[in-house]
This record gives sequence, C-alpha cells and structure tokens, in this order.
Amino acid sequence: MNLHEYQSKIRFSEFDIPIPKGKVARSPQEAYEIAKELGGPVVVKAQVLTGGRGKAGGVKLAQTPEEAQQRADEILGMDIKGHKVLRVLIDQASEIKTEIYLGVTNDRAARQPLIMASAEGGMDIEEVNRVSPDKIVREHIDPFLGLRDYQIRNLAYGIELPRELWKQMMQIARGLYRCYVESDATLAEINPLIIDGSGNLLAVDGKMSIDDSALYRHPELAELRDTSAEPAAETQARAAGLSYVKLDGEIGCMVNGAGLAMATMDMTKLFGGSPANFLDIGGGAKADKVAAALRIILADPNVKAVLFNIFGGITRCDEVAMGILTALDEVKVDLPMVVRLVGTNEEEGRRLIDEAMIPHMVSAATLADAAQKAVAAARSA
Ligand code: GDP
Ligand code: MN
Repeated sequence: MNLHEYQSKIRFSEFDIPIPKGKVARSPQEAYEIAKELGGPVVVKAQVLTGGRGKAGGVKLAQTPEEAQQRADEILGMDIKGHKVLRVLIDQASEIKTEIYLGVTNDRAARQPLIMASAEGGMDIEEVNRVSPDKIVREHIDPFLGLRDYQIRNLAYGIELPRELWKQMMQIARGLYRCYVESDATLAEINPLIIDGSGNLLAVDGKMSIDDSALYRHPELAELRDTSAEPAAETQARAAGLSYVKLDGEIGCMVNGAGLAMATMDMTKLFGGSPANFLDIGGGAKADKVAAALRIILADPNVKAVLFNIFGGITRCDEVAMGILTALDEVKVDLPMVVRLVGTNEEEGRRLIDEAMIPHMVSAATLADAAQKAVAAARSA
C-alpha cells in the first residue's frame, strides 16, 4: 500500500524528520484558507499516488492566498497519469538551494535493507540509476546492527554534503530508517531533501510503501489507505478477503490458489484469449466469498465469459458449487460460463451444478479443455 505525500511526511515528522508546514485541501476555497493561515508563498501539490507530479503540472508555487486558490482550482480534478486529483497539499514554499535524494528500500537480492543518497535529487531516482548509477551512494544495512553512524557519514561524504549539515543528516537518516523499520515499509523516500534558504535540511517530498502483509500490525497506517485512488473492485475484493488484480482481457477467471490462477491465465492466453483479471479466492473459500468474487468479475464490462477453475483441496468443490449457485441467485448472468471442478467432493459439486441446469454454463474436464471452451465462448459472445 502506498501512502500519499502528505501522509508520508506526517509519518516522517513523527521520526524527527523536518517537513514544511502544510495542510491538505479538498477545494480551492480551503486552499485559500490554508495559504492565508500559513502566510507567505506556498506550494500547491497534487496528492496522487504516482511520481513525476512536478513535470505533469501538479506542483505549482503561489505567492498569495488568491493565487493558491487559483492554482488549486487548476490542479484539483486534473488527471495525472490516470490518477484524478481529489486533494492538494498546501505547503509553506521553501527556497531551494540543493535537492538531495535519500531513500531506504528493501534489496531483495542482498536480503538487506538498503539506504541510498544522491546529490541528483528532485529527479526520478530510477532515471538517475539508469543514466549515472555512480551518482547514487549506497549502504546496505545489517538489520541486526541497524544503520550505523559511519554509514551515514559515508552517504554525506559521497554526496558532498557540507560538513555543517552532517549532524542534521544523521538525525534525518536515522529517523528515516527507524520510520522504515517501524512502519514495516518496503520504501521510505525523501525526494527532494533540500537545503533551504536558511541552510537547513528539509524533506519537501515524501513517499512510503507499506508491506500489505504487515498492515494488520499497523491499524493506524491501514486506515490511511485511499480507496478513492483504486478501482472499486479492488476495495470490494479486499473487504471480501480475495486477491484480485484487474487486467484488460475478456475472460473473467475465478480460481483458488495463486499458482493455479497464474496457470489459468497462461492457458487462456495459450489458446488465444486474454484474462480479465487475476483472482484468487483462496483456500477453504465458502459460498459468500465465491459470490463476492463473481459479483466483482461481472462488474467488469470487458468480461465476455467466465471461467471457474477450482481445485478442491481444503476448498471443497461442493462448497464452491453452492457459492456459484448462490451468486447466480443474486446476480443475473447472461454470459457464457465454463466450470472446471476437480478434487475434494468434485462429484457432489458437479451434481449440484448439473441439477441446477444453469443456462450458458458448460463444464470442462481439464484445464486445457476449460481454457479452450472459455476462449471460444468469449469469441462468439
Ligand atoms: P514530484 O514531481 O511528484 O516528485 O513532486 P515534488 O514534491 O518532488 O516536487 C517537484 C519539484 O517541485 C521539486 O523537485 C522542486 O524542484 C519543486 N518544489 C517542490 N516544493 C517546492 C518549494 O517549496 N519551493 C520551490 N521553489 N520548489 C519546490
Ligand atoms: Mn519528488
């Protein structure tokens, strides 16, 4: 789960990282009020879960509250890389002398957290890494030792940070690493960390990604999730305990198990179709879960056929069959459906489906058979 800039920065400030004074506005009027309260020039910043907002025109300076209102009016409602701007952050504007990059991430290959700094801040760090990787100073962190002071000095030295700022850098880097660890983050990044007009370090932009699997330990972070920034189907899927990713194809897939779901998607592609989604209803999925999954699949207008591929292990095929029938009681489906049920209680499952005599539903014996039938059905639909 990604946090918005304003959320990341509030979190940073709890770990002794200096951030500009600011507040979030949902309307131009609110932007005006906040700018007035802050006094002096402000920066109006689109709060969307994507980078490069500056380049896209989503970050604008304003000298007066009136101008802040106008900039907010322009930015609110804007579309930035497919993200609609619903909120703007109004921050006290800073004079920028230098833009630095500072970030902590998880280096899977090294099996360690990695802290990185660069004098080429403000820009997309992936771009810096591509063009001039030598401009990024890296220190791997032993999780048992934590981030050591000498490592922070290495970073400061590597980016040629003026000596008088090393002490501030110590505090910020320690804070950022602690924030990363204590938030179960996969990324905590300040870009840019600036040297401001008075010669101090200040975190002007922030980004955090939190490990979804750890969110149960951080209810205060979990509630920061911006559901308006994600497709409604993903919100519903999460509420129902399903793993769901929307894709662009036309075959809605309902599968139990992530591996089987991937294999099912591959199979539809192999036979010339394309999956509308990844959907893992999980082990032991009961009727209500299956019904929720079916509703989510059917809400996608691109779906032309539905493919159920269920391997009964912990999940019992008769339970899934009941789920399908329950869902079909609630939701009218005019689309062709292909069902493959194998494993625990498969005869019982198939019997339930057959006896219900659902129109447009056919059964399949193997995965290949099911995929072929679904592709053919989607094509003729
Ligand atoms: P991003 O483009 O999504 O990464 O958004 P940022 O918050 O990093 O802003 C982009 C750029 O806008 C920064 O790199 C700065 O150059 C500039 N910027 C952001 N805040 C301020 C500010 O307070 N004052 C000035 N002068 N420039 C700013
Ligand atoms: Mn930035």
